[in-house]
Amino acid sequence: MKGYALLEGPCLARRTTMGLGGDALAEVRLTEARFAGEALDAAERLARDRGARVVFLGRGSNLLVREGTLPLVVVSLDLGLGLSVRREGGRGILRAGADMPLAALLARAASLGFSGLEALAGIPGSLGGALAMNAGSFGTCLADVLRSALIFTREGGLREAEAGDFVFAYRGCRLREEGSGPAADFLVTEVCLELVRKDPARIRERMAEVFRQKQAGQPIAARSAGCVFKNPRPERPAGRLLEEAGLRGRRCGGMRFSPLHANFLENTGEGSCAQALELIALAREAVERQSGFSLELEVRLWP
Ligand SMILES: Cc1cc2nc3c(=O)[nH]c(=O)nc-3n(C[C@H](O)[C@H](O)[C@H](O)COP(=O)(O)OP(=O)(O)OC[C@H]3O[C@@H](n4cnc5c(N)ncnc54)[C@H](O)[C@@H]3O)c2cc1C
Repeated sequence: MKGYALLEGPCLARRTTMGLGGDALAEVRLTEARFAGEALDAAERLARDRGARVVFLGRGSNLLVREGTLPLVVVSLDLGLGLSVRREGGRGILRAGADMPLAALLARAASLGFSGLEALAGIPGSLGGALAMNAGSFGTCLADVLRSALIFTREGGLREAEAGDFVFAYRGCRLREEGSGPAADFLVTEVCLELVRKDPARIRERMAEVFRQKQAGQPIAARSAGCVFKNPRPERPAGRLLEEAGLRGRRCGGMRFSPLHANFLENTGEGSCAQALELIALAREAVERQSGFSLELEVRLWP
């Protein structure tokens, strides 16, 4: 089979940073973007036959996955494309496969002297996941530097979508076209970013500073999926609301809200998704009671 590989049910606990999740029914691993249509056909056939749905998996750093045999067929990328760089005046146009880790791209951009991504230092996902989630921190998000992306949709096939074709939200993005749904309806295979020239030493300095700040205030080495809940308002961050409601450090079995940052749910080793969901329900109730805010999940729950 050319352009993609079919694999038996992947164990999602091994594919998510939280280390939770049962086995999906199957995995379709796309190795050449031009076969995205065939790969999606294969995934959808498998899903239809077995009453499952198709999901796109990046580096699993924003996912909370249930246990058991899951009615999911996973589509993943293994494109091995590397990075291409084009200079346009004082700008750099960087293009990479959507499966490239964001951290690798940041490191390459820094050594080439291209700035714009420094504030994203420490975010562990892939480039495709960062686009789908509009990942961001310290006031910068992926949308700020996106020029275009190669995407596959059922309606339009494989095509280059310009930044303006996307509607970005706080931790999410959808296509502008009529009838397209949320991010899960388009597969990102390549991402093209527009950065500006800067001294590599200054870029690295800023990245190190961002990383230091995250290290001091977030459990970056723990098994988590980053922030569990979205901030209801910038001036009312979910972490603060959770703290005020007494959730910091609250534990259920092997899961706990981090003692360092209440909006991070940690798997301390023997945690389960059921325990995570119990804590999430408890936290929502407590925050609603305490401050009137109803917290919305930032992590994606599968299935
Ligand atoms: C320690 C830690 C710190 C974090 N800090 C931050 C932070 O500061 N800011 C922030 O925004 N996030 C943060 N996150 C969350 C996470 O890293 C980001 O959301 C990241 O962009 C997710 O990328 P991923 O490849 O892991 O996506 P996944 O978790 O695999 O998937 C997330 C979503 O993106 C979709 N998706 C993934 N790849 C593709 C693709 N190729 N095409 C279409 N859809 C796709 C999936 O279907 C899913 O809906 C943090 C996570 C951790 C563990």
